[in-house]
Amino acid sequence: MPLEPVIGLEVHAQLKTRTKIFCGCSTVFGASPNTHVCPVCLGLPGALPVFNRRVAEFALRLALATGGRINRESRFARKNYFYPDLPKGYQISQYALPIAEGGGVEIDLDGGARRIGLIRIHMEEDAGKLVHDPHRPVSHVDLNRAGVPLIEIVSAPELRSPEEAGAYLRKLRSIVRYLDICDGNLEEGSFRCDANVSLRPVGSQTLGTRTELKNLNSFRFVERALHYEIERQREELAAGRAIVQETRLYDAEQNRTFSMRGKEEAHDYRYFPDPDLLPLAVDDAWLEAIAEALPELPDARRRRFVEQYALSPEEAERLTAGREVADYFEACLA
Ligand code: ADP
Ligand code: MG
Ligand code: ZN
Repeated sequence: MPLEPVIGLEVHAQLKTRTKIFCGCSTVFGASPNTHVCPVCLGLPGALPVFNRRVAEFALRLALATGGRINRESRFARKNYFYPDLPKGYQISQYALPIAEGGGVEIDLDGGARRIGLIRIHMEEDAGKLVHDPHRPVSHVDLNRAGVPLIEIVSAPELRSPEEAGAYLRKLRSIVRYLDICDGNLEEGSFRCDANVSLRPVGSQTLGTRTELKNLNSFRFVERALHYEIERQREELAAGRAIVQETRLYDAEQNRTFSMRGKEEAHDYRYFPDPDLLPLAVDDAWLEAIAEALPELPDARRRRFVEQYALSPEEAERLTAGREVADYFEACLA
């Protein structure tokens, strides 16, 4: 039976706010360890979070740009788990009521454009970072990143190949950069992607069992890891074995994926609404102000370049993929 891949991506985009999501600490990258910390982001008992409204503004920019339904009242929730880079024992995220649901991102393929649906966009805080000592069996904890704002963008399982996944990621990165909400740097980790993939018989509407791939810090690795994993699943199924739902790590040097852990389920995290934070209300005036200030987005700009300057679609694509180049091109023409 011929099988087809089904891929859904979860992207974490670090937002370019000056300060963290629930405290006034700086988000600047590369400072000495544990210098941008305070009782809130250290998770000291009794310290209370205060929401940074710029984070919602940035999330709303993306929700508007991708045509999502904005929840006029959204909630923060605690996602409970233990890890040394998470001193509170829970991450503040959004669960039942994220800031936006639906919408989509248009990708351009040889056969024409296709819109990939989004399931949701939600806001959350980043965890700290573990620094493993290469010479001794010791790990250090740096909490400068704890509390840095992220948005998670979850695609529908509608991507059909590693190349489509790459096209989707490039387009999404271009959009967040146009919106000036994230610098989109995969290597530095400000734009991170987990890839979910499964196989199913061509024509089937039900989803197969998926694996989730992590540690994909370049576009090339995302595509390569997916290629590897699709082949691995194909071989498993051909040999009559079932796919185990699990999280797998990609090793770029060996170009392989390895089982890391059994896949956790949402109920394992014991999500519940964070009692320290009010529901976030979004009113018309705020939303209108954000909508009015949106820049022209890459798809619109590419189409305009083709019409206005008589460029080929390929030329327009190249010139509009990044906002700086497009701005420069138009400044030169002027
Ligand atoms: P989790 O955090 O448990 O991974 P999410 O709902 O946040 O769950 O993310 C699920 C992601 O996996 C989405 O991008 C979705 O499109 C994708 N996905 C879900 N089921 C499948 C499947 N069977 N095959 C491929 N992708 C899937
Ligand atoms: Mg996941
Ligand atoms: Zn702080």
